[in-house]
Parts: sequence; C-alpha cells; structure tokens
Amino acid sequence: MTPVALRAEVDLGAIRHNVRTLGVTGAMAVVKADAYGHGAVPVARALVGEGVEWLAVATVPEAERLRQAGIRERILVLAAPLPEFLPAYERLGLDAVVSSPEVAEAVMARAAPVPVHVKVDTGMHRMGLAPETAAATVRRLQAGGVEVVALWTHFSMADAPDPTFTFLQVRQFDGVVRQLGSDAPPLVHLANGPAHVRLPPVATRPALHRLGGVLYGLRTGVLPEVDATDLRPAMRLVARVVHLHTVPAGASVSYGQTWTAERPTRVATLGVGYADGLPRALSNRGHVGLGGGLAPIVGRICMDMTMVDVDGLDVAVGDEAVVFGLGGPTAEAAAEAAGTIVYELTAGLTARVPRAYPADAAAGA
Ligand SMILES: *Cc1c(COP(=O)(O)O)cnc(C)c1O
Repeated sequence: MTPVALRAEVDLGAIRHNVRTLGVTGAMAVVKADAYGHGAVPVARALVGEGVEWLAVATVPEAERLRQAGIRERILVLAAPLPEFLPAYERLGLDAVVSSPEVAEAVMARAAPVPVHVKVDTGMHRMGLAPETAAATVRRLQAGGVEVVALWTHFSMADAPDPTFTFLQVRQFDGVVRQLGSDAPPLVHLANGPAHVRLPPVATRPALHRLGGVLYGLRTGVLPEVDATDLRPAMRLVARVVHLHTVPAGASVSYGQTWTAERPTRVATLGVGYADGLPRALSNRGHVGLGGGLAPIVGRICMDMTMVDVDGLDVAVGDEAVVFGLGGPTAEAAAEAAGTIVYELTAGLTARVPRAYPADAAAGA
C-alpha cells in the first residue's frame, strides 16, 4: 500500500449495526456525498447486504459510480434534474425527482420516461411543487404514461426540538395525498433520519424514510431522542506524527504567529491539514487524541499539516493521533469546536484522505 500519514477508518460493522437498530424495512439509505465521506460503494454494499432496497444520492455521477460498482438496487437522485440529464437517468436506470411543472414536461417528452418521485414543497422552499399544483402534476404525468412511484417532501425543521413546523409540513403533504385519492402513488416518503427517530407519528406511518446521518452514527447534539438511540459512530480520522520538536519560550507556531509558547513546549506536527477537510476554524480551538491524552491544536492549521501541544504526553514520531472518533474527541465535539455540524466534517473530507475498512470492523457486530 502507498504510505500515507492520514486515513479515515470506516467501521462497516457499525453501519450494519445502525441500520439494524433503525430498521431496514422502509429505509431508503442516503449515500450522497460519498456516503457522508464514508465511501459510497463499500457503504452501499454493506447496506444492500443488510437488505436495504432503496438508495439515494444527490447527483447523477454519484449514481453512476454505484452502478459501475455493480449495485443494482433502486437509486433515487435527490436533486432536481436539468432536462439534459434525463438520458443519463435512462441509461443508468435511475429514479428522478419531479420538482417543477417544467421537469414534468421534460420527463414526459422522453420516449421511455424514467420512474419519478414527485416532490411537494411543504415549507423547505428549496425545490418542489406547491401543494396547490402537485396533484395536478401527478395526474398529468400519469396520463402521459409516466410511472409516478412516490410523492415526497422534505422537512426543514426536523432537527429543531419543537416539532410544530414539521407537523404543519405533514398536514400540507397529507392534503395533497387526499386530493389524489385513489390516484395517489404507491409510495410516500417524508422523514429524514432525525424525523424518523424522534417523531413517532411520522416514523410509524407506512412510508420510506430517507436515512442519512443516523446510518453513520452521526449525532445531532440537540435532539435527546436521536442521541439516546444506540447508534455507533462509524468513522475515525487518524493522522500520524511526522515531526516532533521542542519550541523555546517566546517562539510562535505556524502562519500568522497566532500561538506563542509561554515556556519550552513539545510540539508534534501531524500529517493532516485543511486540504484534507480538517476545518481551519479548529486552529487554537480543537484537540486530538494522542499519547494517552488530548493534545490541543496550536497555531493555524495549514493546508497539509497541523501542530499540537504534546507537553507531558508520551509521543514519538510515527505515532497515531486521533483527530476525531474512538480514542479522540467525538466528531460532534470537533464539529462544534469548529462552529459547524458533524455532517460537514465527515462529508468535507477530501479525496486526498484514503478510506480504510479494517477487516475486523468489516466482519463486524
Ligand atoms: C440528505 C438528505 C436526507 C438525509 O438526511 P439526514 O438528516 O442525513 O437523515 C434526506 N432527504 C433529503 C432530500 C436529503 O437531501
């Protein structure tokens, strides 16, 4: 294997455990953004092995990678398609979102239209048909010979402790279902992971649930119901010590001299930087697990390197520091220190970070 000073270890056993805990029946596994950074192909294979029948991605190239890896399950592309993308949907056998009357017309204009999931905008205001026009669009598609697989919507406040707005969205959605009566598509999907875990009236209705972060054991930090569920974090980011030195009192570390040693200080340099996806906002704020303790990040995080204060810790060149995950701060704690959410942290890891799937983890729980 090519030598590297950094890897993201992904425990597929934890992902298997999480999908079992959440329930496979009715799960549409969201593996967009390279499965939130965990590696879309290995993750999708693990999930399919557990019986997951629906996958969702954000873009056509993401779906294409799964097809090229031999994954044959149904795949929904969540983003609104541009009309010129539709031939690729047909070639790859993908389900498309109908997000506007224009997209509906573009789908109907194709000789062999793909199956569609009609999106109702119940309050997110990102894309989708207004509740007043959605039923007419469904009927127009059906009359045009298009298979309308599902009616769906997306919650904007599922992470908020107060469910009032989410229930308002459900009511808007149910209004469209009622208007359609016996023309309603066979499937509906509303909930994302947090809504599935914490909103029983949403979670228990017969529907697909688009589960993302919860599959990877990512916590919201604000919802006790989600955070109390037995979910296992699947990722550890491990960086090796590539240099170790003692800086004298009064010396500053890294660009801009934002940290100055008050006394002679042992400083370790790690092979991870913001070009790997480590948020630069963790400069002088974050910690890593190293030498049996937590070592504070000192000075600015560079593109390819990060310095930590290891004074009093037992550290040697070549040692492994846990940037987040088991043996270090949780991903949630690191994200919070960076002023962001945990999804951005794992999904933000760049292509330079090799993903490793330890065999013992893959055999997993
Ligand atoms: C990303 C996404 C999801 C998954 O959300 P989580 O909060 O990760 O469970 C569900 N639905 C849509 C439309 C999405 O874009």
